[in-house]
Amino acid sequence: MIRRTTEGMRDWFGMFPSVTFGAGKCHLIGSMANTGVIETKDGLVIFDLPIKQFAERTFREVRKRTNKQVKYIIYSHGHFDHAFGFAPFIEEIKEKGWEIPQIIAHENCIKRFEKYKMLDNYHNWINKMQFASVAGRRQGLLVTALETLEPTIILKGNEDSYFFKLGDINFEIYHDKGETDDSIWLWVPEKKTICTGDLFISSFPNIGNPYKVQRYPKGWAIAMEKMMEKEPEYLAPGHGPLIEGKEKVRDSLLITAEAMHFVHDEVVKRLNEGKWFEQIFHEMMEIFPDKFKDHEMLRPMYGCYRFAIHAAYRLYHGWYNSGNPTDLFPSKSKDIAKEFLKINSEEKYLDHAKRIYNEGKLQLALHILDVIVNGRDNTNNNILLEALKLKFEILRQKSNEETSFIAANIIDNAALQIKNRIKEKEKK
Ligand SMILES: [Zn+2]
Repeated sequence: MIRRTTEGMRDWFGMFPSVTFGAGKCHLIGSMANTGVIETKDGLVIFDLPIKQFAERTFREVRKRTNKQVKYIIYSHGHFDHAFGFAPFIEEIKEKGWEIPQIIAHENCIKRFEKYKMLDNYHNWINKMQFASVAGRRQGLLVTALETLEPTIILKGNEDSYFFKLGDINFEIYHDKGETDDSIWLWVPEKKTICTGDLFISSFPNIGNPYKVQRYPKGWAIAMEKMMEKEPEYLAPGHGPLIEGKEKVRDSLLITAEAMHFVHDEVVKRLNEGKWFEQIFHEMMEIFPDKFKDHEMLRPMYGCYRFAIHAAYRLYHGWYNSGNPTDLFPSKSKDIAKEFLKINSEEKYLDHAKRIYNEGKLQLALHILDVIVNGRDNTNNNILLEALKLKFEILRQKSNEETSFIAANIIDNAALQIKNRIKEKEKK
């Protein structure tokens, strides 16, 4: 199932022309994630490397603009779209006999690389699901993290900043926790430019990602506020085009900070009131302010508010989240569904699912259909076939309405599996 790519998502994937700013000495080059290049009279500082598959393209874009030696490479964090496209840069360095540049990262980035090596197959699997719609069209989008270019300057523990000068330009690096625990961002005072990595992605922060580890809403808000204090005129985001103008940059950072404070503080308030996840989630959906809903920098294109509620909750809560001891050590969902089918016939469940589907209760219809889908494994069962077809139809409708790329991929993957199951059944 190929997903239509919205304008915003094309930008998110770096499909915009590279730009030069800062008196011709700063460049933002889009690939899947962005690479920032700052020229000094003594060489280049590169902020983030592209994903491996786009490394050649990004390298050519850099070399169209400047032939200076690369002196520093900074990893905003160790995700595969920010730290792995080093091959052409290193080849050039070897060819020209230049010194290997300094590679700057936070110490958690090194731990991340170790984790990636341990979990290579697993990450490949979850990334295939998260990026299914683009991976299908662009074979090999997914990368292994087995080869890394190791950092040489490492920000450690509570040491949260590192400053250096190259040519006559100052570079200030700060560590904050946001999308990851190894995030660092760059402030270049002479250029009034901030490079954010994925602390800013021109849409709702990717927090509470259903496949990925814990992320940090409060730290995220604090990072935005620290960036605002610098009064930048240019914001080079981790994904999406350059944001220009003091007011626009300030507004973008401020609204993101406010949204992260909001989701964190409102969840915390409800935890203190002794509420379980379901109640917290639905209350949070009701109080989501319009100013966040409508803001162009918080469009739920990739991550979304619904995911962010999970992130804030999980920051302080374990996995037992329903408050119902039935869920503590549950039976297999297949066995539960089979018991329901003993109480009432599958025809009745199907009829009911159809009825509530026609009333527009799509999500409830899915729960009812799952009694048949999970409980019936008889391959020649026509009711099962009909249930699968209705489930497929509902998922297709949900996917069409879904704004989050990640959520849509989850739904589409499942729909595709159901479609294959229907085909198999119809053959028999
Ligand atoms: Zn990224």
